[in-house]
Amino acid sequence: MALPRLLMRFMDWALNFDDREGVPEAIFEMECMICHAVSELCDNEGETSQLWALKHTGRHPTHREFKLLTETFWRVDPMPGNPFADMGPLRSLPRGASR
Ligand SMILES: [Zn+2]
Repeated sequence: MALPRLLMRFMDWALNFDDREGVPEAIFEMECMICHAVSELCDNEGETSQLWALKHTGRHPTHREFKLLTETFWRVDPMPGNPFADMGPLRSLPRGASR
């Protein structure tokens, strides 16, 4: 699933969608609002979470309200002219993203 790209600039820093190798575009998880059971975490596609909700309601017909939890990863990069621009790229992946 392709997510829209967003670039926000503030002073000499820019907030960017983290599109580095190994970082998922998004992680999805569905939660039942009745019993708070949750689906498995799924990278980059929400269909598995949606299927989990349908199966959950099939097993528990009165559980028909869900919350889709979505995590996306962002980073702040120095813009040209920022004294931190020479630090090079970020080395570590965000917690939860190295899956
Ligand atoms: Zn439930």
